[in-house]
Amino acid sequence: MPNQLVFATNNQNKTLEVRELLAPTYQILNLLDIGCEADIPETGDSFAENATLKSSYVVQNYQIDCFADDSGLEVEALNNEPGIYSARYSGARGDYENMMFLLKKMEGISNRNARFKTVISLIQNDVNYIFEGVIYGKLRTAPKGDKGFGYDPIFEPDGYEVTFAEMDLAQKNKISHRALAMKKLIDFLQSN
Ligand code: IMP
Repeated sequence: MPNQLVFATNNQNKTLEVRELLAPTYQILNLLDIGCEADIPETGDSFAENATLKSSYVVQNYQIDCFADDSGLEVEALNNEPGIYSARYSGARGDYENMMFLLKKMEGISNRNARFKTVISLIQNDVNYIFEGVIYGKLRTAPKGDKGFGYDPIFEPDGYEVTFAEMDLAQKNKISHRALAMKKLIDFLQSN
């Protein structure tokens, strides 16, 4: 009998990827699978707190071990903004507006250092384990590329001459903050 583990996401693609990696030891369910339609509040002031709010919500309400992730972009010259506000940096608007809002703030600033970060909270047998993935890069002054989402068109990872939005998804998924954090989680689960 595999151990059940909830991935607190509504994203089927993310779920399938992790499900394959952890079968047959773990049976991975997502929010849809457990019938959770709640808009789980993300009111913490760090990625770790927000990820933990989601994982603990599921554990408390469904009594199944759970992991959840929270991600964002941190810009060195802006004191790590937009950080946890990445999805709503320009107010309640979309990805494109957030990106253009950030570019405007960065006008005339020569320090373009930025990093994407993902933090995963895994609650297993009532213990909260935290895993972090980071990718460092530079902010462009204008968007380039039409793949990906969010701030991808203005983020050039160190060691590459293209933005995340110019990369194939498969390539981005090999080096991204999310992939790095997921790998740590999966290594942990497989070694337990
Ligand atoms: P989430 O926690 O994965 O939903 O990410 C929150 C927000 O951070 C997104 O809405 C994006 O604005 C930004 N973000 C996170 N990961 C990425 C990425 O891989 N590329 C571009 N933007 C991202």
